[in-house]
Amino acid sequence: MSVDSSGKVIVIGGGAAGLMATGRLAERGRQVVLVEKMGVLGKKLRITGKGRCNITNVCDIEDIINNIPVNASFMYSALYTFSNTDLLKLFDAWGVPTKTERGGRVFPASDKAADVVNALKKYALQKNVRLLCDEATGLIIDNSTIRGVTLKSGNNIYGDSVIVATGGKSYPITGSTGAGYRFAKQAGHEVITPKPSLVPLETEERWVCRLMGLSLKNVAINVADRNGRSVYRDFGEMLFTHFGVSGPVILSASAHLRDIEKSAYTLLIDLKPALDDQQLDERLLRDFEKFSRKRVLNAFDELLPRKMIPIFIELTGIDPHKPVNQISRAERRTVHSLLKALPLRIKGMRPISEAIITSGGVDVRELDPSTMQSRLVKGLYFAGEVIDVDAYTGGFNLQIAFSTGYLAGSNA
Ligand SMILES: Cc1cc2nc3c(=O)[nH]c(=O)nc-3n(C[C@H](O)[C@H](O)[C@H](O)COP(=O)(O)OP(=O)(O)OC[C@H]3O[C@@H](n4cnc5c(N)ncnc54)[C@H](O)[C@@H]3O)c2cc1C
Repeated sequence: MSVDSSGKVIVIGGGAAGLMATGRLAERGRQVVLVEKMGVLGKKLRITGKGRCNITNVCDIEDIINNIPVNASFMYSALYTFSNTDLLKLFDAWGVPTKTERGGRVFPASDKAADVVNALKKYALQKNVRLLCDEATGLIIDNSTIRGVTLKSGNNIYGDSVIVATGGKSYPITGSTGAGYRFAKQAGHEVITPKPSLVPLETEERWVCRLMGLSLKNVAINVADRNGRSVYRDFGEMLFTHFGVSGPVILSASAHLRDIEKSAYTLLIDLKPALDDQQLDERLLRDFEKFSRKRVLNAFDELLPRKMIPIFIELTGIDPHKPVNQISRAERRTVHSLLKALPLRIKGMRPISEAIITSGGVDVRELDPSTMQSRLVKGLYFAGEVIDVDAYTGGFNLQIAFSTGYLAGSNA
């Protein structure tokens, strides 16, 4: 059976990019069929920013560009057509007040990602939009022109334009299972191999699992490559897990480890970033004097989280049961250097299913950056994470989805 939708625009995927594209198309008076397979719209959006949704960032557009390490120049047109300021004006018009936090990150004032989804749903589901709860299985292409979409239910839908906004491959439980890459290949597009980015890291050291759940709030990290060259430095919060490390600074670091398969990276954690070498030495002398009659095991109570102390002492090689006043100068130097640069060898990344975003996707050289239209198939558009553009944390990835969705919706 086939449903006649000729003259219509079909949007595949009701996530950030697809909802924005649909709303924009509806605003332009186009007939739209929005195909979403999950039964609910914006499933991933609901879990963004730990349920608070970091919508965008208030920095200027050049700074947004600087936060896009892959194919930033492709984004100029989309970001200038629909900027972060335009996005915030829309949220304001929809009655969703926002607030700006550290690092220019913008959240809904309510701290509820659901408010963002509800506003986008209202914008998208206007009277000329039909929502179809079905799974797109392929594209119907004839003579290098898009004609429609095949569906799992067996019903084909036809239209003048198709916008593929199916997301990446991360968190597949939210619906983004990489279907868009298949559609792109079917249309003859090159797809840059999808890889995890903004993802927890696995370490060679197994002692990390004994610290599982321990979060370090104010640490400085330095990731060095096998030649000792620093590839990333940051300051903030990190977390130990059963396999390695996670938390904001680690996720950000992961986006910089482009050669993780080839190169061995070492993570160096500065546990006392507020103290320079001399201050730390003075602090150690003071603490060791204060606890001089105690055992080494009790000398670090004011320096380190309790859970970390036995492991830290193991790493120094100092006998935990000897008196503190027997710590030698060389041992104190070892303590010093481990406090300033605790090393962890990075074994690899967690799988793509655990990544915040997917790096890779539809090759930008085959898309028109001013419309998001395919250069290979007329009427075929791509928007959001399915495209080979990815950014650091801070609201930039959603801005990419909204800007490319808006642009595709303005042109399809
Ligand atoms: C835990 C987590 C937290 C995050 N937090 C933030 C944050 O705070 N700020 C930020 O900027 N970014 C954040 N991100 C990244 C951000 O969520 C994504 O970059 C963004 O959602 C991508 O939007 P999209 O519309 O391209 O894809 P998605 O939001 O993944 O939407 C794709 C949609 O397409 C549907 N779909 C897929 N295939 C088909 C098919 N064959 N047929 C029909 N429908 C289909 C899916 O069901 C899904 O609804 C986070 C990601 C994760 C995983």
